[in-house]
Amino acid sequence: MIPSARIIVLGLAGGLLGGCAKAPAPVVEHPGAPPVPSNEHVALGIPKDADPSDDLILDHHSYVLSYNPRMHVANWVAWHLDERDLGSVQRAHEFLVDDALPIGMARVTADDYAQSGYDRGHLCPSADRTDTAEHNARTFLMTNVHPQRPELNRVPWKALEEYERSLAKAHRSLYIVAGCIFSAHPVTIGHGVAVPRLDYKIVVVLEAGQTVASINASTLVFAAMMPNEAGVQEKPWAAYLTTVDAVESASGYDFLTALTPAVQAALESKLAAVP
Ligand code: MN
Ligand code: MN
Repeated sequence: MIPSARIIVLGLAGGLLGGCAKAPAPVVEHPGAPPVPSNEHVALGIPKDADPSDDLILDHHSYVLSYNPRMHVANWVAWHLDERDLGSVQRAHEFLVDDALPIGMARVTADDYAQSGYDRGHLCPSADRTDTAEHNARTFLMTNVHPQRPELNRVPWKALEEYERSLAKAHRSLYIVAGCIFSAHPVTIGHGVAVPRLDYKIVVVLEAGQTVASINASTLVFAAMMPNEAGVQEKPWAAYLTTVDAVESASGYDFLTALTPAVQAALESKLAAVP
């Protein structure tokens, strides 16, 4: 049973994250509860769809995600990326059960993926969080992971991630949302972990010195949708560029909700010329 009040879960035990006693507890928002405090990762607004009952918002501090308890996979993960996030910390490797989920809710484990043919695909990539060991470890929480075809994870999805980091290294500030689109009756692996039909990304790119207040109708925004199937690797990532409007209609979510309707309309209908 899902408690109705907002709860603070001391789920990320220090031991799991290498004894980071100072790690803040994740904040969990249940449907119907007040919104999580706004932070930099959702500065452009929390993506919203018509059915909040399958959006369990988890603020993991180094990213914010919406977990879908029916699919056992995130609807979306949002994070801010700039060069301060990029350091030299070693990739954690160990996938972690997310104990921020409410008591009684099933937890996905790394074993759910065993022999499934799917990669444990990060949404917020490990390589986007190499400033501290704790931030890197948090990307290995299983709620930030989805069943992703190896051809997608290791080729165009990875190339897009690398492109984003190249922008961050060139002093840009990026607001990224990555997520999953499911068919009505998705294939599942393990204990009911749904395989998305499509993966998507929405990326807002600010130039050095710009802030969220600088966003206007000429800000660079790009979106991509990639099929989660073999064959996806045959095209370069930029072949999957699309508009935010197209992602909104395929996913049912409204993105960039903190921007004015006029700025959303301008940015969401543009097909950006990148890279
Ligand atoms: Mn990946
Ligand atoms: Mn929108």
